[in-house]
Amino acid sequence: MTRAFAPGSVAFVGAGPGAADLITLRGAERLRNADVVLFDALADPALRALAPNARWIDVGKRVVRLKGGDPSVFGRLEEELAALAAAGIECEVVPGVTAALAAAASTRRPLTRRGDGRSVALTTAVTRDGKLGAGRHADTEVFYMAGKQLAALARKLVEAGWPATTPALVVSRAGWPDELASEHSVASLAEATLLHSGRPTVVTIGVGAEPIAAGARRARLVAESVAAEEARAAP
Ligand code: SAH
Repeated sequence: MTRAFAPGSVAFVGAGPGAADLITLRGAERLRNADVVLFDALADPALRALAPNARWIDVGKRVVRLKGGDPSVFGRLEEELAALAAAGIECEVVPGVTAALAAAASTRRPLTRRGDGRSVALTTAVTRDGKLGAGRHADTEVFYMAGKQLAALARKLVEAGWPATTPALVVSRAGWPDELASEHSVASLAEATLLHSGRPTVVTIGVGAEPIAAGARRARLVAESVAAEEARAAP
């Protein structure tokens, strides 16, 4: 059972990355009961059909703040939570499908892989003062808000220790019918600039960017882990 949507409270709802049916059941339920919906540019306008009784924008009693993707991922949620806490207004956060997960799903590239894909980082390439920064924090690293600066991102990635041949996957408008995906290496990332220009874009670097049938190395890894499991299971 989900908690009821209390009068006078705010729900931060993750709308998902694109198509309206990527919202969660709980998110849709909150929309049905909302008096007011505050939304951002990333959310599908088709979601309005789920909140037929709500005023969109403005201030009211039960308020849904509809945020693209997941509210807790690069959604500036901390400021809004702090403001509500300061004002003594009750709130809840309803999770959504963040862009990195939508891109992994539609391109069929799992972010974790048995063997050498044991960690995932969601990273913004843009620092607080508007500069570009990149590190190497995980086996798979997904960069948000870097679509306009792919050439610079490539340079920073090499500086941070990613080999130039590391697989790179660029996906724009993930989860929408007009999604685009292109494959590169870290060295050739800048090639993607034109194709994805003007569209919300995530860049996946490392193990999770590799296609599944990536040849002998992965096949060998899988075969080894199957053999190891069989050996463990054997009496
Ligand atoms: N809360 C959102 C992220 C907001 S920050 C989420 O969880 O997805 C905005 C950045 O998110 C964009 O610059 C882009 O990098 C990424 N983004 C959002 N929607 C996207 C989509 N449908 N496809 C690809 N990237 C997307």
